Amino acid sequence: MTDNLSTRTTYQANCHCGAIKYSVTLPRPLQAFPSDGIPGNNIARCNCSICTRNGYLLVYPMREDVVFQCGEETMASYLCATKGAPHRFCPKCGSALLVDIAGVDVEALKGRNAVNVSHEDCL
Ligand SMILES: [Zn+2]
Repeated sequence: MTDNLSTRTTYQANCHCGAIKYSVTLPRPLQAFPSDGIPGNNIARCNCSICTRNGYLLVYPMREDVVFQCGEETMASYLCATKGAPHRFCPKCGSALLVDIAGVDVEALKGRNAVNVSHEDCL
C-alpha cells in the first residue's frame, strides 16, 4: 500500500529544542478523520489517555516517508497500556513526536507510522 505519489507534500518538523529534526511526506489534501478510509489521508485525534494528555493530532505516513535528519536515536519511549505502540518523545524538551505503530496489528496501518502533526511547519 502506498500513497498517491502525484499529490504529496514534504513538511519539515522538529521538536521544540531542535535536537530532533525530521521530514514527513504526506498526501494532499489531508482530511479530518473519518475521511476516505485511506490512513495516509487522515488527521486523527486519538482518544486514548496518553494521546489526550499530550494533545496528539496524528497523521499516518508510510514509514519510509518519515525521514530523520538528526536525533532519531536519542528519542525516548513511553509504553502505556498499548504496549505495542511506544510513544516517542524528545528527552531534552519533552516534545511528543510520534507513536511507533509498527507492532499494531491493524491491516490499514501496516507499513505506516503515527506522527504528531503539531511539530510540522506550515501544515
Ligand atoms: Zn527537543
